[in-house]
Amino acid sequence: MSGESQAPAVGIDLGTTYSCVAVWRHNRVEIIPNDQGNRITPSCVSFKETERLVGDSAMNVAASNPVNTVFDAKRLIGRRFSDPLVQKDLMFWSFKVASDQADKPMIVISYMDEEKQFAAEEISSMILTKMKEIAEAFLGCSVKDAVITVPAYFSDSQRRATKEAGTLSGFNVLRIIVEPTAAAIAYGLEKKSSDERNVLIFDLGGGTFDVSLLTMSDGVIKAKSITGDTHLGGEDFDNRMVNYFIEELKRKHKKDISNQSRALRRLKTACERAKRNLSFMAHTTIEIDCLYNGIDFESKISRAKFEELNMDLFEKCIAHVDKCLKDAKMDKASIHDVVLVGGSTRIPKVQQLLQDYFNGKELCKNIHPDEAVASGAAIQAANLSGQGNHKIEGLILHDVTPLSLGIGLIAGEMSVVVPRNTTFPTKKQRIHFTSFDNQTIAEFDVYEGERPRTRDNIQLGKVTLSGIPPAPWSGQKIDVCFDIDANGILNVSAVIQTTGKKSSLTISNVDTMRPKDEIDRMLEDAESCRSEDERHEHRFAVRRSLVDYIYNTRDNISTKRSASHLLAPSTKKIRDEINNAIQWMNANRFAEAEVLVNKRKELESSWVPFITKDSDT
Ligand code: AMP
Repeated sequence: MSGESQAPAVGIDLGTTYSCVAVWRHNRVEIIPNDQGNRITPSCVSFKETERLVGDSAMNVAASNPVNTVFDAKRLIGRRFSDPLVQKDLMFWSFKVASDQADKPMIVISYMDEEKQFAAEEISSMILTKMKEIAEAFLGCSVKDAVITVPAYFSDSQRRATKEAGTLSGFNVLRIIVEPTAAAIAYGLEKKSSDERNVLIFDLGGGTFDVSLLTMSDGVIKAKSITGDTHLGGEDFDNRMVNYFIEELKRKHKKDISNQSRALRRLKTACERAKRNLSFMAHTTIEIDCLYNGIDFESKISRAKFEELNMDLFEKCIAHVDKCLKDAKMDKASIHDVVLVGGSTRIPKVQQLLQDYFNGKELCKNIHPDEAVASGAAIQAANLSGQGNHKIEGLILHDVTPLSLGIGLIAGEMSVVVPRNTTFPTKKQRIHFTSFDNQTIAEFDVYEGERPRTRDNIQLGKVTLSGIPPAPWSGQKIDVCFDIDANGILNVSAVIQTTGKKSSLTISNVDTMRPKDEIDRMLEDAESCRSEDERHEHRFAVRRSLVDYIYNTRDNISTKRSASHLLAPSTKKIRDEINNAIQWMNANRFAEAEVLVNKRKELESSWVPFITKDSDT
């Protein structure tokens, strides 16, 4: 059990380009430096004839050993080889990636004079092992428990693969948490306030971009909405500059280095350095001796040119911010803090566009952009392993449901139990009445989605409850409960109130099981089909009211009339008509509103005189 372990639990930011490990100790977060004294370690592994290097040493030999130096494993983890994003990335990598029989990308390298293939999680596990060693050297004991972070829009398979990488490196992975919310925990430590604050976390790193809108009050953090791009970050900015210089080389030296992995790697390293320089200089120079075929490459680039090359990408970031606010139905004026996280937020143009978007609002730069995620993970690790204290115990993270969850009703209607963007843990209860006479079995189909008809949503499972004591329509009550725990595990239960008989279903990871693009598509569908959906909502409402009318008429007759009245011919007639109407409703579950309205008129014209007469007598 994690809490029994003596060694402190650590938090690891397993980044696309750099990783960082931190620990909660001595009443504060400590960022653990590596053996080179650096607080961040390149997420890079290099295979040589005699040894395997990880981190700074791997990065140092990247240019001389390009085909056997692996970086960006995070871009491959949990993905398929045929994924268009993987195919696009392949063009920029100097190492080889092949597909196995199951469409899994395998990194092909030569190690100790043999060709070897590694899955991305194996490469990530080598980086995590390095981070473990760094922590153990610093803490002087073996480290077991860890919280590892992933981008907010990592799919379930990407998260599972990351967890597997942690397990492969000997960690007990306490939890996988998302990077922006980890940063929010770190920010929450800095800025504990009893007033509710709306905080926008703008996290632009080396490979991914996340925008999260959170509310914080007394250290409790709730995610309101999260958006982003799994393929937008510093490396894309580097690549734009690389392409620019490739073209320059073609023009000036008539040489194409786009397929020369060693030259490309060296150019990329130089471009990354130039990009960093341009964050605080207006111009910088690139100098690479003997880049290709004896060419000593030297060139200049200005900040303005760099911005021009990347403007569409920077603007994309701002569009995501806008979307995040719209998703949360919030106005920019209601944002109290805009927090910068990730190395690429140092780019002045990015800061300026963001500040302009928020009408000149001052951006929060008081948490370290490279270390915030690991710091938050370390706080979460300490809390989860029981090693936290009063200072951080209150810092709790609440995630949100990305889509509404509910049950299907008899006519194919989605009845929402947990609305979209509900923070969890949460527990929502619904009383369901039996839908017809003598119903002994109830089936509750569990759905996810925003559309009023279940057929337009996604079915997650079914809870079947048998043994309902026979009773007239609505005569038995069933408690339907949706309970989502802190890990996003949904338990749906149905209990017969009179007997206590229960049936239930568990669905894991309601927050992560669907990739972002699928969620986006479902939300877009809901938006574009709004008028059609309103028609269905109207139809369902008319149907519900007609069902109530029919059964209530029957109940009224039963309670008001004496036994002798029941034998009256007019009573028998209306009873037959009611039974016919019930049968008609069952046979016409999907009837249009107009048909239902006409049916109601027909029933009323036949029943109202009778009911009126009945109340007169
Ligand atoms: P992260 O994933 O948060 O570690 O961010 C790494 C990315 O930040 C890399 O692409 C770096 O090149 C980039 N980065 C770091 N420092 C700077 C800087 N001063 N200016 C621009 N980009 C930077």
